[in-house]
Amino acid sequence: MGQPDDTLAARWAAVRARVDAACRAAGRDPAEVAILPVSKTFGPQAVREATALGLARFGENKVQELRDKSAALADLSLRWVLIGHLQTNKAKDAARLADEVQSLDRPELAQALHRRLEAEGRTLDVLVQVKTSPEESKHGLPPHALHGFLEHLAGLPSLRVRGLMTLAVQSDDPGAVRACFRQLRELRDAAQACGHDLPRLSMGMSGDFPLAIAEGATEVRIGTAIFGRR
Ligand SMILES: *Cc1c(COP(=O)(O)O)cnc(C)c1O
Repeated sequence: MGQPDDTLAARWAAVRARVDAACRAAGRDPAEVAILPVSKTFGPQAVREATALGLARFGENKVQELRDKSAALADLSLRWVLIGHLQTNKAKDAARLADEVQSLDRPELAQALHRRLEAEGRTLDVLVQVKTSPEESKHGLPPHALHGFLEHLAGLPSLRVRGLMTLAVQSDDPGAVRACFRQLRELRDAAQACGHDLPRLSMGMSGDFPLAIAEGATEVRIGTAIFGRR
């Protein structure tokens, strides 16, 4: 913090370079891995500054914060992605404000979003959040319930299911972290073998994205490394 090169532009360039390096190390094309900048807790001004770098899509974890920020930035055409736990009673605002929800993790929420989207005449890209780590604090659908949930979603046409999302266990053991990412990829591969089209895997954050890229992430969600400490 405080060094002359510690600017948003410098941090963004460094993250893009590290993502590209992780792709090359994994034998993957950097064009296959998108970066979702996570702007939660940072104000509209930080997001506005990021748009000057060409960023136009941002992750938020709270509906209230998304509502305030998107209102303050209504003059820009931004895409907002909800990545945090979503209460069913917030489905109305989520359906109105979000361009995408990556934290879809239960049938009641899917049902509520679908109802609201039908009322708005919209569709929404969604990722199914799967719980791949044992921590109580982490949300997500239990892996064994994925098949049934995908069948359920097939009956809710306003939700366009594009892939899966997860948060890895918080651990100093890279093997344990990587196992979470591997599980998500294997679940996706199994679901695809059953006919579900799930091209996207959203996994990896500031502290663990190289492991996620090695396991097939198509999108990494980066907050701290771009915007700074929260
Ligand atoms: C905050 C958050 C991120 C980004 O975390 P950093 O460690 O700051 O990169 C990614 N995914 C989710 C679901 C988050 O809530």
